[in-house]
Order: sequence, then structure tokens, then C-alpha cells
Amino acid sequence: MPETLSKELIELKETCNTFAQDTLLNLPEDPDSRETARNESKRLGLFMMTQPKQFGGTEATQLELTVARETLCSHNAPHVDSVFGPSPGVLGGVGEPLKSTHLSPLLNGEKRSSFGFTEPDDAPKPTSGKIEGETLVVNGQKSYVTGGADADFINALVHIEDLGPSMVVVDTDLDGVNIDKKFSSLDGSHHAAFSFKNVNIPSSNIIGEPGKGLPRAMRQIGDTRLLFAAQACGYMIWVINFLTEHLKSEDRSGEPRGNKDVVRWHYANARIKAYAARSMLYRTARIADSGENAVNESMATKAFATETVGEIIDTGIQLVGGAALVDTHPLVRLYKKVRAWRLAEGASDIIRLNIGRGILELDKGRI
Ligand SMILES: Cc1cc2nc3c(=O)[nH]c(=O)nc-3n(C[C@H](O)[C@H](O)[C@H](O)COP(=O)(O)OP(=O)(O)OC[C@H]3O[C@@H](n4cnc5c(N)ncnc54)[C@H](O)[C@@H]3O)c2cc1C
Repeated sequence: MPETLSKELIELKETCNTFAQDTLLNLPEDPDSRETARNESKRLGLFMMTQPKQFGGTEATQLELTVARETLCSHNAPHVDSVFGPSPGVLGGVGEPLKSTHLSPLLNGEKRSSFGFTEPDDAPKPTSGKIEGETLVVNGQKSYVTGGADADFINALVHIEDLGPSMVVVDTDLDGVNIDKKFSSLDGSHHAAFSFKNVNIPSSNIIGEPGKGLPRAMRQIGDTRLLFAAQACGYMIWVINFLTEHLKSEDRSGEPRGNKDVVRWHYANARIKAYAARSMLYRTARIADSGENAVNESMATKAFATETVGEIIDTGIQLVGGAALVDTHPLVRLYKKVRAWRLAEGASDIIRLNIGRGILELDKGRI
């Protein structure tokens, strides 16, 4: 462990270990089993960790969420995505009418939402809106909306004339909201590309103060960066445990596979990198919980952890050999799963540019 944990956090870790071993690992990967995972997660009090107290949740700290997510992923069990309930995301703290029309139905599972930020490179102009009386008229496009085809609404970034970038709830059943394309990515997740043509949206669907959408969107992106980092660290633990067993086993000559110096070097290197990533993760979660601005730390942790898990899985495949590239092998399945994290929620290169810019141009950031 890179951190000393309190008694409560150790209990949470044990709950997650038992849940993964006794329930998740025994469930088939079909969609019906998600319900079983969700019900058991509710019974154990894990489901509510991501939900606000006002809505019956327990509003867990970043450190608690980190411990839970890392521990669950360290078993490489199916249905981890179904363990935690929907979180408010950019709708956090909204008042009426959005609280009743969208936030509440989202948290109790009656409505699904997606996040619309990314736009195609060749878009003539970013998604924009104009207020006309009580209506916001929106035109534009979003190119990579995860879960968009099943979403009841999209929380979309819209540049509102004279007011600036704002987060807006766009109901997907409105006239002028079109799905141009549905597609899936290497990790198996599903996405949609949308266009908006003169969509009439009530102005009350603007989330928070108009023009202040970017900090709100960045808060959600920051939380998701820590989520990716915690999951990445959990999968690193799984790969290293898998490799430990593999390297203790004997090859055809009867010698343990880990006896070769070069193999041992790669194995130790993976352990060093995992230790560094996990140390960053726990430190960043504690900074975030202290109320300090953890933007730079979250960016650094997300970039390092998502790159490191890719490297460690790649090393694992190399040391196991061709068998690890058979479609059904857990290492190749993990390889596909984590690849997207180096792009989603901020490409690694752009994160590096932002960290550099923060220090060189804005005199911000401690790392
Ligand atoms: C699985 C998955 C799920 C996603 N889900 C969502 C979602 O739900 N909602 C959403 O809005 N988006 C989503 N995205 C999109 C994601 O946010 C973008 O892929 C990511 O922000 C990178 O943007 P891009 O794909 O346009 O690549 P680009 O911005 O074109 O970047 C590609 C590469 O070009 C280089 N580059 C780009 N800009 C610069 C620069 N300014 N300086 C230097 N180098 C640069 C970098 O090497 C970068 O890696 C998802 C992506 C994936 C893979």
C-alpha cells in the first residue's frame, strides 16, 4: 500500500474485496447481471457513495471513492461500472426547475444523461446559442457523446451569444436534435455524434450561471480524471498479481519463468511504476478532499496512471507471450479497455501542455 489507511477505509476496502470475490467475479458478463451487481452494491452501501446526501446518498470523499474503485478494479471483475449510482455531474447543486425535471430523475434512474463537449475538427463553428425571450435557440454539433443514443438528455457546452460558454441541458427528443452517427470504440463502449438545428430549449435549461459553463464542465472532468486514475491503479495491481503468479510458474525446462534477469527487470519496473502511480493517486485524492485546488495534480495523475497502466499491460503481454494476445485472454481485454483513457477526459499531450502553460504563463500549479 502506498498509503496508511484509517480503520474505516480499511473496512471499505474489505467490503469491496468481498463484493468483488463473492459476487462480481461469479456473475456472467451479460447485461441482465448488471441488475444483480447493482442490487448487491445498494445493499452494501456502495451504490450511494456517488450520490448527494440530499438525495439519500452518502456523498463519499475522493479518498473513499479512490479506495473503492481501485480495490474493485484490482480483481478485474465484470460490472464494476454498475457498482456506483449515477452522480449529479454538471447538474450538481442546480435549483428548480432542473432539480425536479432532470437531476432527480437522473439520480433515481428514471432518466439517462450524457456529456457533450467534443466537437469535430472541421465544424464550421462551435455549438452556439441565442436567447430569444424565454427560449435558447441552439445550433451546432457534438461528435463523441458516450451513451448518447440511449440518453434522455445531453449536458452540452454551448457558446451563448454575449454571455459565453455555458452548460445546457439538451433533451434528445426535441425537434432539431439529430443523431448523425452511432459508433463504438475499442473498449466496447457506445457513442453517438449529434447535430443541433434550431433547437428551441427553455432558457431555464441553462445549468448555473450563463457564461460560467467551463469551470463547471472542468469540475466534472476533474472528478472523472481521478476516477480513471483509480481504476487504472486497480488494474495495475491485477496485472502485477497475475504476472507474479505467471513468473513463479515453471517453463518447459522446469525453471521458474521469473528467474531470467531480463524478465525480472521488466517485472520490477512495472512494480516501481505502479507504486509511483498509486502514490500520486492517493496524494491527489487527499488534496482534493482538503478543499484545495487539485486541477494540476488531477491532470498529472490521470496522465501518468493511464499511461502507466497501458505500459504495464503491454509488459504483461510481452512476458506472457502470444497466448496473451488471444481474443479472450484477460490481458488483451484489459489492453482494449484502458487505451481510450489516454484520450478521453483530456489527451495526454494536451494535459502536458496545460501543466506547462499553467506554470510558465499563469504562474499556477505546484507540481
Ligand atoms: C472512449 C471515448 C469516450 C469519449 N466520450 C466522450 C464524451 O462522452 N463526451 C465528449 O464530449 N467527448 C468524449 N470523448 C472525446 C474525447 O474527449 C476526445 O477524444 C479528446 O478530448 C481528444 O480530442 P480529439 O479526439 O478531438 O483529438 P484531438 O484534440 O484532435 O487530439 C489528437 C492529438 O492531436 C494532438 N493535439 C491536439 N491538439 C493539440 C494542441 N493544442 N497542441 C498540441 N497537440 C495537440 C495531440 O497529440 C492529441 O493527442 C471520448 C473519447 C473516447 C476515446
